[in-house]
Amino acid sequence: MNVHDSERISGLLIDAGYTQALADSQPDLVVFNTCAVRENADNKLYGNLSFLAPRKKSDPNFQIAVGGCMAQKDQDAIIKRAPYVDVVFGTHNIGSLPILLERARIEEASQVEIKESLEHFPSTLPVKRDSAFSAWVSVSVGCNNTCTFCIVPQLRGIEKDRSMDEIMKEVRALVDQGVIEITLLGQNVNAYGVDFGDRQAFAKLLRECGKVDGLERVRFMSPHPRDFTDDVIDAMAQTKNVMPHLHMPLQSGSDQILQAMRRSYRRDRYLGIIQKVKSAIPNAAITTDIIVGFPGETDHDFEQTIDLV
Ligand code: SF4
Repeated sequence: MNVHDSERISGLLIDAGYTQALADSQPDLVVFNTCAVRENADNKLYGNLSFLAPRKKSDPNFQIAVGGCMAQKDQDAIIKRAPYVDVVFGTHNIGSLPILLERARIEEASQVEIKESLEHFPSTLPVKRDSAFSAWVSVSVGCNNTCTFCIVPQLRGIEKDRSMDEIMKEVRALVDQGVIEITLLGQNVNAYGVDFGDRQAFAKLLRECGKVDGLERVRFMSPHPRDFTDDVIDAMAQTKNVMPHLHMPLQSGSDQILQAMRRSYRRDRYLGIIQKVKSAIPNAAITTDIIVGFPGETDHDFEQTIDLV
């Protein structure tokens, strides 16, 4: 999601008249699109900012902006620790970046704008994609779950779904531009539809993608076992361009740890889905995410994860 947001930030800036700096040149603007998932994100950000401080001191026209999840989390604290930062913008207002940069330049003062919720779906913003053949397409942002290890719901808000029409329009436009592979993107991608009350919306979306001529590969990430319904398995098996690949986070093979994580499924449910996927799509590649050393995890819990794998 962050990588895709970065593509949107680049697209917005190019639309506003900026050009990409060459590898060896001195840029006029540096934008940090931060992530708050890892513990050392703070250290990394402030280390990078202090590296740029001397340049900022010697060249007042040089601008620094900080966006993403760290900005959403720390807000004014960033300006307190690094007062030379020009703009701090949150996860819900990427679209304001060019205006905030302009305002910082005119007022010669740092600008902080953090919105509590999304106003425009980020996919309506311009985008500069890194690949000409493969593209991310957001179907939703935010998440309604409360996994104890995850900061996403606090920083990205509750789930907001795009309309299927809008998604398919973007998919078709991408294919017209030569894209052959798309990855449908959502924090909890298969919960798509919860916003407008359609439990089968994600399966329908996969089938719609199957009708687009020229679209050779469709992928999605990341689904949640709780929301994984049989109609998604059928849609995967029956839609030719949906790749036989399921990346579904397990997190732990121990029911006690899953409960402590507030993951609302148990190992049997996870294994049941995998079995159904394997019988419907015998060549399916299955990949996963696992957290080891979760607080309170015993050797027995760990063995349970190994056993499940
Ligand atoms: S489902 Fe995913 S995004 Fe949502 S809270 Fe859990 S880990 Fe975070």
